[in-house]
Amino acid sequence: MRGRANDGRTAAVHDVEVEVTAWALAFRLGGEEHHWPLSQIEAEPLGDLVRLSRRGENARLTVSAQDWRAAASSVSEPVERRRRRRERRMIAWLAVAAVAILLFVFVGVPLASGPLARATPPRFEAQLGETYAAQLGVVFPACAGQDAQDILHAFGDSLEDGMDSPFNIVVEAVEAPMVNAFALPGGRVLVTDDLIAESETPDELAAVIAHEAAHVEQRHVMQAVWRTVGLGMVLDLVVGGGTGAGQQAVLLAGSATELSYSRDAEAEADARGQEILQSLGLSSQGMAPFFRRLAAHEPEAGPAKGVMEFLSTHPDSLRRADASEARAQRGRPAFTAAEWQAIRAACDGDPRRRREGAEGG
Ligand SMILES: [Zn+2]
Repeated sequence: MRGRANDGRTAAVHDVEVEVTAWALAFRLGGEEHHWPLSQIEAEPLGDLVRLSRRGENARLTVSAQDWRAAASSVSEPVERRRRRRERRMIAWLAVAAVAILLFVFVGVPLASGPLARATPPRFEAQLGETYAAQLGVVFPACAGQDAQDILHAFGDSLEDGMDSPFNIVVEAVEAPMVNAFALPGGRVLVTDDLIAESETPDELAAVIAHEAAHVEQRHVMQAVWRTVGLGMVLDLVVGGGTGAGQQAVLLAGSATELSYSRDAEAEADARGQEILQSLGLSSQGMAPFFRRLAAHEPEAGPAKGVMEFLSTHPDSLRRADASEARAQRGRPAFTAAEWQAIRAACDGDPRRRREGAEGG
C-alpha cells in the first residue's frame, strides 16, 4: 500500500511504498529501513486517514484508513483468535479441574474409602479410636454406675464371639444430652444415658449396640473416617497452602458423633446386627419397636436434636423397622432383670428427670 512518511525530525513528507506482511509493516524512508511489528504500532485516526507510529520511534506514517484496516486485520485477527482460543482452553481446563475435584470428592473418595478402610491395619484403627475416645471423653463423661459399665463391657465381649472382626468391642454408657449411640474406630461403642432411658427392653438396647458393632465389623466407621479425611485433603488443595487447615476444619466440624454412613451401610448394619445377636442365641426382636418409637418422636425431637445416628442419617426409619421385623427371631434376652435394672440406673436414675431437675434449680 501507499503511504506518506515523515522522519519526525524535519517537516519533510515523503511518499513511500509500504510492504505489508502477516505481522509487520516495512517501508524505506531517507535510506533507512523501517520494520514495524503490527503489535507495536499505534494508530491515530485522522478522518479517512490514519497516522501510524511505533513506540520509541520519531517517524510517522500516514496511510488511508481503509488500507490500515485491511493490514491490521490480517494480523490482529489471528492474534485475537489465538487469544480467544487460549481463553477457551483455559476455561475448559478449569471446568475439567472442577469436575475432577467434584468427582474425586463425591465419587473417588467414597469409592476409595471402602478399599482404604479394609486395607487399614486394625492396630492403626484402634489407635485412632483411642484418640477419638480421649477427645469425646471430655464432652461426654462416662456414667458413674460401675456395675452397669461392667455389664455392658461383658456384653461387648460376648458380641465378639458372633463377629468376624479383629476388634475389641468395648461398650460404654456416657452422659450426653441426646438419644444416641455411636461406634468409634477400633470398636468402642458409646450409648448415651438418654438412649438407655429411651429403651424399654433389654432387647432394644442390645439391638442398638449390635447395630453399632456391625458398623465396626464391616469397617463402616473407618470408611467414614477416610471419607472425612479425603474431603479435608481436597479442601486443603482448594484452600491452598497445604497447611492442613482444611483437614483440621473437617475433623473439627465432624466429630466422631457425626461420622455418617450411607443408606446401604445402615441397611447392612441393621441386618448384620440382628444376625450377630441371632448367632449368639439372643433375641433380635428389639430393633423394630425401637425404630418405631423413635420415628414417632421424630417430628417433635427432630434429627437435628440428635436422635441416634441411624435415624438422623436417613429418615426412612419406618421402612427399616419393617425390614428388621421381618428378620427378627426370638431368643434369650441380652440382660437379666437385675442387669437391666443396673443399666437403667447406670447414669444416676432417669436422665431426663435428672436433667429437668437440674435445669429447674
Ligand atoms: Zn448406623
